[in-house]
Amino acid sequence: MSTVSWLAGILRELTGAPWCAACHRPCDGVALCAACRDALSRQEPIARTLPNGVPVLAAGRYEGALRRLLLAYKERGQPDLRRPLATLLASVLRTLAGQHAAHVRRLAVVPVPSTRTAMRVRGRDPLSRVTEGAVRLASSGGLDLGAVGPCALVVTSALRHRRAVRDQAGLSVAERFTNLDDALVARRSLVGLTVVVVDDVVTSGATLQEACRALRVAGANVLGAATIAATPRRV
Ligand SMILES: [Zn+2]
Repeated sequence: MSTVSWLAGILRELTGAPWCAACHRPCDGVALCAACRDALSRQEPIARTLPNGVPVLAAGRYEGALRRLLLAYKERGQPDLRRPLATLLASVLRTLAGQHAAHVRRLAVVPVPSTRTAMRVRGRDPLSRVTEGAVRLASSGGLDLGAVGPCALVVTSALRHRRAVRDQAGLSVAERFTNLDDALVARRSLVGLTVVVVDDVVTSGATLQEACRALRVAGANVLGAATIAATPRRV
């Protein structure tokens, strides 16, 4: 937990005053202040392509209010921080489903699993919770994509780590790909399943590329990847 976030938590406890989870300024009794909510609502989708050719769509840029909200949610896992992130992810899931609506009636949404270390530290898998919320939001009222009819989105925890990996933070792009090489495996055969992979942030693309490899080995048809945010492009 960052010092600023920790101090904000202490102040909130002591004073009973609500503080914005993203900017740590006093706010009007909700998790995010009006300025941060506004910044999130103005996010523009970012399209990327993984080295293996798989398209990635991110809901926004990993900076400012969105970056701080993601970090706060990972630390605390509060439901009121989860909802704005799920809303952003839902928007890109709807877009991806719409792009393939002509030939896909059922889309498995596969979150990248947390590392064993992260699960030990946090005792939960924050990305899975956001993904479940996003699929509920994207499907609310039915994900009817016009003349082609409805498409069902289903959260599918299809992947697990088969070995320990290092934290990707601080690694070079080449080291990130090496760190994750052959690190994931499908829990079962995925033959016949059409899939979108989900991660919170795309940086080098190493995690998503490894997830795509493991899903394809198990027989899945991987259409693309969706993330909440994208970092500035790395060369
Ligand atoms: Zn704020």
